[in-house]
Amino acid sequence: MTKGSINVSVENIFPLIKKFLYSDHEIFLRELISNATDATLKLKHLTSIGEAQVEYGNPKIEVQIDKDNKTITITDQGLGMTGEEVEKYINQVAFSGAEEFLDKYKDSAKDSGIIGHFGLGFYSAFMVAEKVEIITKSYKDEPAVRWICDGSPEFTLEPAEKTERGTEIVLHVAEDSTEFLEESKIRELLAKYNKFMPVPIKFGTKTETLPLPEGAAEDAVAETVEVDNIINNPTPAWTKAPSELSPEDYTTFYHELYPMQFEEPLFHIHLNVDYPFNLTGVLFFPKLANNMNIEKDKIQLYQNQVYVTDEVKGIVPDFLMLLKGVIDSPDIPLNVSRSYLQADGAVKKISSYITKKVADKMASLINENRADFEKKWNDIKIVIEYGIISEDKFAEKSDKFTLYPTTDGKYFLWNELEEKTKASQTDKDGNWVILYATNADEQHSYIQAAKDKGYEVLLLDSPIVPHLIQKLESSKEKISFVRVDADHINNLIKKDEPAISKLNDAEKETLKTDIEGAVNDKKFSVQLEDLDSTDAPFIITQPEFMRRMKDMQATGGGGGMFGMGGFPEMYNLVVNSNSDFAAKVLKTENAEEKSSLVKQALDLAKLSQNLLKGKELTDFLQRNYSQLGK
Ligand code: ADP
Ligand code: MG
Repeated sequence: MTKGSINVSVENIFPLIKKFLYSDHEIFLRELISNATDATLKLKHLTSIGEAQVEYGNPKIEVQIDKDNKTITITDQGLGMTGEEVEKYINQVAFSGAEEFLDKYKDSAKDSGIIGHFGLGFYSAFMVAEKVEIITKSYKDEPAVRWICDGSPEFTLEPAEKTERGTEIVLHVAEDSTEFLEESKIRELLAKYNKFMPVPIKFGTKTETLPLPEGAAEDAVAETVEVDNIINNPTPAWTKAPSELSPEDYTTFYHELYPMQFEEPLFHIHLNVDYPFNLTGVLFFPKLANNMNIEKDKIQLYQNQVYVTDEVKGIVPDFLMLLKGVIDSPDIPLNVSRSYLQADGAVKKISSYITKKVADKMASLINENRADFEKKWNDIKIVIEYGIISEDKFAEKSDKFTLYPTTDGKYFLWNELEEKTKASQTDKDGNWVILYATNADEQHSYIQAAKDKGYEVLLLDSPIVPHLIQKLESSKEKISFVRVDADHINNLIKKDEPAISKLNDAEKETLKTDIEGAVNDKKFSVQLEDLDSTDAPFIITQPEFMRRMKDMQATGGGGGMFGMGGFPEMYNLVVNSNSDFAAKVLKTENAEEKSSLVKQALDLAKLSQNLLKGKELTDFLQRNYSQLGK
């Protein structure tokens, strides 16, 4: 037996390990299973190149807990270590790695997430164990050894009995970590970190019912057997080529990834790149409308099939954070702080690759099946609109697949919208005017009026539309978005002949003064327009600029421009001077009658804009009910 002292200058490194990595104790299991996986895959490689003359077989990794003896054991059938290798890889390399790590990352170690890359992986065992044993036998023809260390820099190395190739790590669990002796706890950790690791992992057994033999008697009882309980899927969808997978395979994988998610994904994007960086993965577009689990089931980041985190901010562009799925890359630096991550060149490339891939996929989906894409538009539009606003590279490609739905259920691509409306919807400055509504119910009367004139009205109802419009107006030439109830709509050059004026200028002047007097409210500025006689007598519109400022403020943009959001309420009261109503007001001699006529029309106009509220509404109703009795 050899006794020795681990080559390390820090007197007692274990309390340090425990302290620095306190918040992440549970990762010890991930680290040890990663090592077992590495050892297994290394052996696979060595046998495949003829370096190791042993049978590779069907190796698995086993995790066992023994509550009585307070141990957790991780056993693999990998390449094992000789005594010399234990000295070299465990005592020296691993420990100098640990020392370096603690030295360099004293302050940031706590939130670094992964520690394996510094060789501290194995020593993370001491976060939960007071004593650790390694019993290992190399695939080379050498005797097995047992290494024991109790957390001080002293270790012992002695011959061991083990006859099978591989390594067994026995953790003697410390008093303050007995929670890890609970089966449910280990099961939870395995599900979190190891669900897709590449070597089968056994945890306990389960009972399986055998199928009845053919022609079995009706009352025959099916036989049951105990089989290994394998907790992982070693070949998850993202490790396969897209050509090997059916649409159902992707859906199955989605549910495997998010067992509590019952909705089906809308579509998937398979990521696969090996230059200039390595990255694989599958992203899913979930149904976004009414989805309650947006926050919970996030994109998961893996490194060679080992779960690392679901905090992917910085790696995945913001607008794609609403997607779900998996990204696996050995090239993402996981051991450094978030601010560093965002500045990292490789990470930037990954982010723009993902952006491009999503744009390409959208373009091919709409080409393959336009009707299906239109059907799903409502669920995906937020992501795409957000992408247009926030990523120029995405915006550049977006005309190929961004749909502009109309209030009557048609969907236009940008060039189709242009073809359909550019020539017929222009204002006096020669701008192409795009009419839109944000709420089909609330703006119903305006939409109807615009449609009657032959205009197309888009229905843009997501919360970020004000920003989208701003972006489109600034990136495209001579266009102007106008909400269907805005004042600018009157600037549209009329397609049909201009309506003939029924009133002369003097009459108009009188009418305006009459109405201003009766309305008597600074919020409304009265304007006369020669509209069709069948159009409503009063139409309330809001200055486009004012409304946009309010919208922007409500969605977080342009906030603070007017202090604490104190936008003045400002409306235009458009009076149709060709309406019968206008003629009637002019004819009415009695001032009181005139005033109540105007008030009634104003209340109706307000009602149609959802502006009649509180006492005003009560008074209006009372007045009209009492009219019914007369
Ligand atoms: P890393 O995995 O990053 O190399 P670790 O501290 O996790 O660092 O492990 C140190 C070394 O110990 C490994 O590189 C490997 O050589 C050896 N080792 C650890 N666990 C095993 C195992 N189960 N089988 C064989 N070798 C192992
Ligand atoms: Mg390791």
